[in-house]
Amino acid sequence: MRVFNFSAGPAVMPEDVLRTAAAEMLDWHGSGMSVMEMSHRGKEFISIYDKAQADLRGLLKIPANYKILFLQGGAIAENAIVPMNLLLGRSTADYVNTGEWSKKSIKEAKKYCTVNVAASSEDQNFTYVPARETWELTREAAFVHVCTNETIGGVEYQWTPDTGDVPLVADMSSHIMSRVIDVSGYGVIYGGAQKNMGPAGLTLVIVREDLLDRALPMTPTAFHWKEQAAADSMVNTPATYAIYVAGLVFEWLQAQGGIEAIERKNIAKAELLYEYLDATSFYVNPVRKEDRSRMNVPFKLSDESLDEAFLKGAKERGMVQLKGHRSVGGMRASIYNAMPIEGVRTLVEYMQDFEQRHG
Ligand SMILES: *Cc1c(COP(=O)(O)O)cnc(C)c1O
Repeated sequence: MRVFNFSAGPAVMPEDVLRTAAAEMLDWHGSGMSVMEMSHRGKEFISIYDKAQADLRGLLKIPANYKILFLQGGAIAENAIVPMNLLLGRSTADYVNTGEWSKKSIKEAKKYCTVNVAASSEDQNFTYVPARETWELTREAAFVHVCTNETIGGVEYQWTPDTGDVPLVADMSSHIMSRVIDVSGYGVIYGGAQKNMGPAGLTLVIVREDLLDRALPMTPTAFHWKEQAAADSMVNTPATYAIYVAGLVFEWLQAQGGIEAIERKNIAKAELLYEYLDATSFYVNPVRKEDRSRMNVPFKLSDESLDEAFLKGAKERGMVQLKGHRSVGGMRASIYNAMPIEGVRTLVEYMQDFEQRHG
């Protein structure tokens, strides 16, 4: 029996995608092979790769002057790869600090450049996104880096920051494809696939073409965006099976009606959960309302001694991975694209029931 999986990542996948992958496991489209057995340069895999790229471009309306790269190393590798690819002739970068993932990006970037923290929400324990007017940007910065959805803190940008001529770089790992975005507002968008796009092992980088000439000479070839763009992400062997499954997720998203349609569902799911959280004092979400994440909803029980009982009861009802990140404790419900609204409804009903018994 399948559970409702609230994991922050690797995370729930659409069941249809898993069924298709299972059905095609031994013989992909009459090729007599599993996708994982194919040469990445063979015509079968090239067709899978090209379709995944085209479908992704269509879903996110990625303009023609942006390259889509299917790399490896995850968002954590990109924390180093981003500065290496953008720092040529510059030595400073601006970072906005909205929580745990921003902090990691900043720490890594300091190995490569002078980091100016242009704004931070640390003063209120990372419970909001600092307003654009408060950012203190550097004129000569190579780029401005933001994490548009803080997976641990549950803080999400509901707007696209304007950084003028300085390219905006966004770690979108945990909310990419969950909402309509204006790609042209960004210089670079990156994220690991394992939250909302597919299996772990695939890293998506979307980069504006004019930014491909800014890499430091020391940039490793496998992480050099321009070289990877010229080689269709095949400087090294890409994560072929993960790309195939992500491609199935893109087809599933098309069948759902595209990003606009999935965004409406995500809004409904998030509202269901937040409305209940706001109506009770038994559970608490500390994030400022207008900056709350639709994808990751952290909450605490007002009485922490009940945490174990809460998790145990959830598991008995088929809901798993609700334990909050070790750095913040409490609970966290990640409700990505593939989480059906029934999952959220089941969770809210359980939370109400638990409150009645223990409140
Ligand atoms: C999960 C996550 C990461 C880490 O991704 P890896 O694939 O483990 O490198 C980085 N940033 C954000 C916002 C995340 O959600």
